[in-house]
Order: sequence, then structure tokens, then C-alpha cells
Amino acid sequence: NQLNISQLITQTIKAFNNAYHCDIKFIQENDTPLFIETDEKKLKQLLFIFLDNARKYSDGTISVELGHDQDEVYIKIIDHGIGIPEIDLPKVFDRFYRVDKARSRKQGGSGLGLSLAKEIADAIGVIIQLDSVLGAGTIVTILSKKIEK
Ligand code: ATP
Repeated sequence: NQLNISQLITQTIKAFNNAYHCDIKFIQENDTPLFIETDEKKLKQLLFIFLDNARKYSDGTISVELGHDQDEVYIKIIDHGIGIPEIDLPKVFDRFYRVDKARSRKQGGSGLGLSLAKEIADAIGVIIQLDSVLGAGTIVTILSKKIEK
């Protein structure tokens, strides 16, 4: 299914902002509509997991950036929250893994979000990159092949 990714992100952020009373900003590199071949429902689910983590582990200053290079589209979910210690980065995609029970307890959660995200990403053929600095914030990048229209 070929999807207008700018439209899909706008819709998802709007729904998320309404549901959680957030004010997530959408930044688009330019106005050209970008298309990718993917499963709409699963991509929304994927975005939802990352937005929810950004919300839970930050003060709510979150932005989503959409852009592209020659053959790839990137979506970045950027928060300025508590970040993830370097030593935990390779493990956060494991099932039930939570960085620090003390810091995450008040947000609840089961440590399943990111393992599900990994499964969805593999199923729809997108790549996920995780960059995080403890105490500074986290950037999740979703990479997908760009479709020329
Ligand atoms: P849930 O299953 O409800 O999503 P969870 O948030 O604990 O629970 P994951 O989404 O799998 O589980 O995340 C694993 C761990 O990675 C979290 O416990 C949290 O410590 C850390 N983490 C994930 N995203 C972020 C983020 N944006 N900023 C800081 N830490 C994060």
C-alpha cells in the first residue's frame, strides 16, 4: 500500500495529542509529499509506541521530524527527556526489559513496547535507530524506502 507519509504522521500526531493532551510538534523538511510502501495500521502502531515512550520519559517537549535523502524517508521522534544509559541501549528492544525499575515504576509499563516495535518494524520492512544520551534525551529514527511518484 502506497501511503502519503506526511498525511499519516499529521493524523497520528493529532490523534495522540487529543488523547493524551500533549502538544507534539510536526516539522517537515519541505512541502513535497513523501510516499512509502507500507501497512498503514502497523506504521501508526509503531509511531504510537515511540510517541508514548517519548511522552512517558520526558516532560512532554516532543517533536516529530520528517525528511528524506535520495532514496530513503526518515521519521525522527525527538524528546528531551531522561534518556537511556549507553549500557542499556542494546537491551531495550528485548521483551520485558526495563532500564531501571525505580525510574520507570511511576509510569507503569511492562517493557514490551519496544520489543513489539521491533517486530512491527521487521514485518513492514522499516529500520529503527535509537540514539539516546542519559539526561539529555532520545531520538528514534524510522527509515523507509522512498517511492518516486
Ligand atoms: P511498555 O511496555 O508500557 O511500553 P516500557 O516503556 O517500560 O513499558 P519499552 O517501551 O519496551 O517498555 O521500553 C523499554 C525501556 O526503555 C523503558 O523501560 C525505558 O526505561 C526505556 N525507554 C524507552 N523509550 C525511552 C525514551 N524515549 N526515553 C527514555 N527511556 C526510554
